[in-house]
Amino acid sequence: MADFADIYGQEQIREHMQYALRTDKVSHAYIIAGESGAGKKLLSGIFAKALLCEKRSEKEGMIEACNECPSCIKALSGSHPDIITVTHEKENSIGVDDIRSKLCDDVVIKPYESTRKIYILPEAEKMTAQAQNALLKTLEEPPSYIVIIILTNNVNALLPTILSRCIILPTKPVKDDVIKSFLMQKYRVVDYKAELSAAFARGNIGKALELSSNERFEKLKNETIDLISRVQNLNTAEIMDRIHVLLEPAEEDAKSSKKGVDMGQYEDFMDILYFLFRDFLVFKSTQSDSHLIFTDKVSYISSVTRKCSYEGINCILEAMDTAKKRISSNVNMDLALELMFLSIKENL
Ligand SMILES: [Zn+2]
Repeated sequence: MADFADIYGQEQIREHMQYALRTDKVSHAYIIAGESGAGKKLLSGIFAKALLCEKRSEKEGMIEACNECPSCIKALSGSHPDIITVTHEKENSIGVDDIRSKLCDDVVIKPYESTRKIYILPEAEKMTAQAQNALLKTLEEPPSYIVIIILTNNVNALLPTILSRCIILPTKPVKDDVIKSFLMQKYRVVDYKAELSAAFARGNIGKALELSSNERFEKLKNETIDLISRVQNLNTAEIMDRIHVLLEPAEEDAKSSKKGVDMGQYEDFMDILYFLFRDFLVFKSTQSDSHLIFTDKVSYISSVTRKCSYEGINCILEAMDTAKKRISSNVNMDLALELMFLSIKENL
């Protein structure tokens, strides 16, 4: 498990936690709010470990757990009796029984070996109204030794009366260059791949990490660019056949997708095209590869940009916008993509 020094981005949340540790002004309830992949679990784990550490100290300006005391060793192995993750029986909802048995009824028992008892409640947006009301009762009169850390991707799903009793810590999108150095330093991802994953992740460090090691995404990227490079030699039916293969759901989730199209794959496909055409424009105006996203495709990008015009690329980007709008308003996807590819063929 990581320490505060290992957190990339999320400076405000880190500062808040550091202040709490430094001054020992710890609230009874926190909400860490942010999308999946933003690092909510990591942040709550680091905070819990540091709160219970018996010998925490300042390292390079940061209060950190020692990672050596008996408490830290248990926290690191996930077996600390005073760090309780509130799990739930049903996959899609957290019921009142889950909250009562794992939280409300448990908080009356004093900590086993620490000065505090910490409850981590992931996916709190799944709580039923009854479950939220049960949680509220505990939040209204919390025993002095408890800290509840609520994790959610949708703070609006929680009762205002819960929100008003918690300190809300929203995660923020992380800057691309911070994500890039995270991938390169922590996971030894190569330069161009780190750059590309950061660009696609839109500030979400977990998504970037996922993309950087995702072979399906790498394949989609290479085959999408290959399709564009051959587009003048293919007829519409051939183009659409290749797109259908690209957008097929992976075998394991074939059942859950609609009409044989994986919508996540479709969004990545459109993003890849968008970033590719953006690269054409960037290369055309700078004649340099230093600001490109697809730095592994420089020779292809430079060969295309010699032939096509700024106006042509702008027409393609407009056609892409139109296609996206049509698809989101439920126009037949094939038809919308066919029209978009006509524009690509005409203007490239
Ligand atoms: Zn420790």
